[in-house]
Amino acid sequence: ENDEENGEAEGIVVGTEAGFPPFEMIEDGEIVGFDVDLTEAVLEEAEGYEHEEWQDMEFGSLIPALEDGSIDLIAAAMTITEEREEQIAFTDPYFSADQSVLVAEDADFQPESLEDFDGQTVAAQVGTTGEGVVEEELIEEGRIGEGDYSSYDSYVLAVEDLERGIVEAIVIDEPVGDTFADERNVEVAFTHETGEEFGLGVRQEDDDLREALNEGLATIEEDSTFDDLVAEWFGG
Ligand code: GLN
Repeated sequence: ENDEENGEAEGIVVGTEAGFPPFEMIEDGEIVGFDVDLTEAVLEEAEGYEHEEWQDMEFGSLIPALEDGSIDLIAAAMTITEEREEQIAFTDPYFSADQSVLVAEDADFQPESLEDFDGQTVAAQVGTTGEGVVEEELIEEGRIGEGDYSSYDSYVLAVEDLERGIVEAIVIDEPVGDTFADERNVEVAFTHETGEEFGLGVRQEDDDLREALNEGLATIEEDSTFDDLVAEWFGG
């Protein structure tokens, strides 16, 4: 409960999946990234709430953890989808993204669109919209078989297997694909437009929190905070 009347701020536990650079990642044992700074800036503005702690978990565990009360807020570059909105609520959108296809550096397979797939092995992180693209546009369209797809607990592990030639392609949010392409021996083959928007996730009944977060987002978008964070984490 929000104890604003007693002047006590409610401590908010934030859940994330810290293998999604530059939105969230582990550096020197700490969870850092754009979403981390954004969420802390927004909570700073959100009256009646204060940030308590971060919890790192698998992406697919975030919505159940929100629903069972072990976390209060999801900050995980999570795309606002109708399917997720049946279970949780989202703040106003704070970031736009499409999906990219990653291949290993100097790979033989160099697709230019999803139509170029023909039985290659593909990876994505479990429960993501990238996995949705694999299922709907590669498997259901008969471009790859069900057995050609591997669902990974973490994109970090998927990128390692791409480098080692264990899988031939990864479908991943474009800004994160760009980051892995900069840092690892993988490259962006092409980008597939999905027009996704990220929101912070809250329980459907937590209207007060959602409104406070939306006000906080609006405030940091009006002053220079949001733009400064984009410049800091995306070099834009
Ligand atoms: N934006 C994508 C989704 O919501 C991926 C998020 C992630 O892997 N952290 O499914």
